[in-house]
Formats: sequence, structure tokens, C-alpha cells
Amino acid sequence: MFDTPQAARPGTLYIVATPIGNLRDLTLHALDVLRTVDLIAAEDTRNSQGLLSAYGISARLTPVHEHNEQAAAIRLVATLQEGKSVAYVSDAGTPGISDPGARLVAAARTAGVAVVPIPGASAVATALSVAGLESPWLFYGFLPAKTSGRKKELEALRDLPYALVFYEAPHRIEETVADLAAVLGETRRILFARELTKRFEQLHACPLGEAAAWLEADEYHRRGEFVLVLDPPAAREPDDDGAARRVLALLLEELPVKQAAHLAAKLTGARKNALYQLALEMKQDHE
Ligand code: SAM
Repeated sequence: MFDTPQAARPGTLYIVATPIGNLRDLTLHALDVLRTVDLIAAEDTRNSQGLLSAYGISARLTPVHEHNEQAAAIRLVATLQEGKSVAYVSDAGTPGISDPGARLVAAARTAGVAVVPIPGASAVATALSVAGLESPWLFYGFLPAKTSGRKKELEALRDLPYALVFYEAPHRIEETVADLAAVLGETRRILFARELTKRFEQLHACPLGEAAAWLEADEYHRRGEFVLVLDPPAAREPDDDGAARRVLALLLEELPVKQAAHLAAKLTGARKNALYQLALEMKQDHE
């Protein structure tokens, strides 16, 4: 029924997912590896000590975080090449997903060291599993910290025909949600997936136009860790009712294609890219 438990193999780097809240979300496979590796590299050794103690694992720990990852990677690759087995764990969830781990993995692979993933919890997959989305989605992670950079990124993402998934921390949740509403529009829907797998786990979906009020309504709504899932943009085709075509025809009498499409998108709510294509076709037909 079960695959046989196996001890960690010599000279192998294991990238091990750990829980994002509920400590019981550690897999049996992860336990086998963490119990038998020679060394556990951790983003924050004190933090991981808590998880390991809960499972009665007393392992040798070494820190590998965003500030020392490059140097630590060189050291760990040497350890692996001596035939030792190493596991890497980040603070929570899957390493390399908005967490350190990528540089260590790259260094190990470049050196020809075996790298083995031990899958488990990740906030993005956990949120998507309850988002009820059928569309493709794009995982972005953390948006830039400053509003100007954040808005610029959001403008580039706005018209993509995908759901968008972001991570956000409590101290920036209000400003990020304000920028999401300003750039993506008040009608686009957001799912707040808060404190997943923890005691005060909460899922709340609403149009972006109502999101600030929801955050304001209760201080607990603004606390904890968030995954934000945005529905894809409403896929209104420009010629749904002929209105976009009529508006474009008028604008094209006075304006170049790009400007006409831009204004028509604002006036009709249809997607700018689709209107641009339509405007090009209309112009060609006309000529
Ligand atoms: N590597 C992790 C993973 O696989 O999900 C992500 C690490 S990233 C530094 C931390 C961010 O992930 C948080 O700010 C939050 O956006 C999201 N996150 C982590 N745990 C969460 C949870 N229990 N509920 C909601 N979001 C969570």
C-alpha cells in the first residue's frame, strides 16, 4: 500500500516542503528524509528547530537565507560532493517559491549533484485548490513594495487572459488592494485566502470595488498572511453588441489606431488588445 520508506541517499540534495501553518501538513516522505539526512540547511534555523522538535528530530542545522545563499551554496555543494546528504527547508511551504532555494539548487545542479524534490504544502497551491477557478492562472508572488512599481507591474498584467495570484503580507495588504482596484478595475473579483491551514483561516471573495471596505470592517481581516487570487478579466469581446465597433469607427476618423483603441477600451470596457486588433482590421478594410 505504501511506498517503502527510504533513508536519504549519500551525496543528494533534498528540497523539502514544510507546513504553511498546520504542523501536521508535513508528509511522511519529508519525515523520512529529515530524519535520515546528515545535515539540514534551513532559511531560519530557529524557526525550523520548532518544527523538527515537534517531530522529535534532532538534526544538525545550518543557515541558508537570501543574504548568504550564494556562499552557503558553494559550501554545501562541497559537503554534498564529499558524499553527505543534505535537506533544505525554508521557513514555510515549498523552497524556491517566493523563498530562498533557487541558487542552492542551481549550484548543485551545475556541479552535477543529484537534487530531489520532496513535495508538500505551498500557499499558492493551497489557495488555488479552493478558488474554484477553471481558467489558467499566473502566479506572480510578491508585487513590488512601492506603489509606483506595483502599479506598473499591474498595468502589464491587467489584460492578460489569466487569473492572477499574488502573495501579500499584512503590513501592505491595504495599499496593495487599493492599487489592484485602481489598475484592474472595481468589477474584477478578488479572493482573499487568509491564514490558510491555521486557526483563523478565512476565504472571502468580492469585487475589487468592495475589497477596501471588507478590510476596513474588521482588524482581523487585515492580519496574518494572504494569498490574493484575481479572476481573469471579463472576456468581453469588443463586438459583443456592435457598440465597440461603432465607437472605434468614430474615433478612427480623428485618431491613430493605438489611441483610438485606448479610448474605446475606456469607453466600452472591452479589452484594449482586442480593440487594437479590431481597429487594425477596420482600418485595413477602409483602405
Ligand atoms: N514558500 C512559501 C510557499 O510555498 O507558499 C511562500 C513563502 S513567502 C516568503 C510567504 C508568503 O506566502 C506570505 O506572505 C503569504 O503571502 C503566503 N503564505 C504563506 N503561508 C500562508 C498561509 N498560511 N496563508 C496564506 N498565505 C500564506
